[in-house]
Amino acid sequence: MKLELSRIVQGCRLGVLTGLGKTGQHSLEIPGCLLYTRCATVPHLTQDTLHTLNSLPSVTQIAVDTLAEHHEVLAEFKEGVRKFAGLHDTVLYCSLHDPATPCPPGHITNKTVSVWGSGGRIELTAQRFMALQTVLRPDWYQCMADGETWPTNTSRKRVRKAVDRTLAHLDECLLLHHKSPELKEAEVFGAIEGGDILEERVRSARETAKRPVGGFVLDGFRSDAMDQEVRGQLIAAVTAELPAEKPRLLQGVGRPDEVISCVEAGVDLFESFFPYQVTERGCALCFSFTISPDPEAAGTRRSKVLESNGEKPDADADADAAAIEVPGESGATSPENMTRFEMDLKDKKYREDFRPLVDGCTCYCCKNHNRAYVHHLLVTNELLAGVLLMLHNTAHYLGFFSALRGALVSDRLQDFKKRVLQ
Ligand SMILES: [Zn+2]
Repeated sequence: MKLELSRIVQGCRLGVLTGLGKTGQHSLEIPGCLLYTRCATVPHLTQDTLHTLNSLPSVTQIAVDTLAEHHEVLAEFKEGVRKFAGLHDTVLYCSLHDPATPCPPGHITNKTVSVWGSGGRIELTAQRFMALQTVLRPDWYQCMADGETWPTNTSRKRVRKAVDRTLAHLDECLLLHHKSPELKEAEVFGAIEGGDILEERVRSARETAKRPVGGFVLDGFRSDAMDQEVRGQLIAAVTAELPAEKPRLLQGVGRPDEVISCVEAGVDLFESFFPYQVTERGCALCFSFTISPDPEAAGTRRSKVLESNGEKPDADADADAAAIEVPGESGATSPENMTRFEMDLKDKKYREDFRPLVDGCTCYCCKNHNRAYVHHLLVTNELLAGVLLMLHNTAHYLGFFSALRGALVSDRLQDFKKRVLQ
């Protein structure tokens, strides 16, 4: 694996990871995201429907907690989880936890971490964790870590202990890793902990960077547990300590505005659980991210789009994407945790709305169906609603990352931010 950085714009790293996969045939552009899965499958989608999408990330994320209880079956299967789950040719990254599933705190000891499967809690020692990695056979995996510093008011003593434990886990796992022929080609990603305490974050970053890791996982920064400004400052302090030539993956952050600010703080890679969460609440991503090469022309085009949608053009707006929806416009209650980047398709105002989810979107859902039909599927609890929404939301999210890279290439990050954050 090699990271080639082509430029750094206002702290944002633009580049490409090359030489990925068993034969080194894959690459992944940064800033970018991984492909999110649960139990090694993209929720709602078969491999065939998934591959109707263009430009899928070359790295797929799996998680220990959804696979640990299948350890014996996978050991018997002997050919790794990629083949077991029928995944197409992809690079596999294995994280400790599924980012979309909260993990109950209070079950970490000096020697073990706990994960939750469908049958309850599974306690993992370093030996058991590494034995599991041996049967999963990922290309990258997150080392065992104590990330339980996200609850507010976690004491300094507890945070220090989390950093010490995580470094001890890393040393033990690296010893076992180097003895395992099955993991010879795999890269270990060291987890950086430290809660919201700057000195502990810096210590964790410095010490982890001294170890022979392939990349870094920035853990404990999840969206619901930390103020955005504090997170940005901590991440910038952490990335300043890390070697430039290794990738930095941030866990637990997926909202577009937060992604942008974390890229500015030096993050390369994100998980893509956000489109899944949006899908689960019956919503569709609809935020605008396209920056036109000519701002004046963009203003004209937006007026035309809005007029054709039967809506009033906003003279001050310079966006050209689909009309932004106002949550709860029809008086209905918005789903819990709904963000301003999505529309609630269960809302009855979409009952006779025959436009695609997003004008100009080329996903299967937008090319073949309209808002009214997806609304109908949602209110009648048809499983196809999840399939269509997952296709659209994944396509939209991948398009956002692609546009972010395009904005960095053309030195138009400010225009891009204005468009996404409007
Ligand atoms: Zn679409």
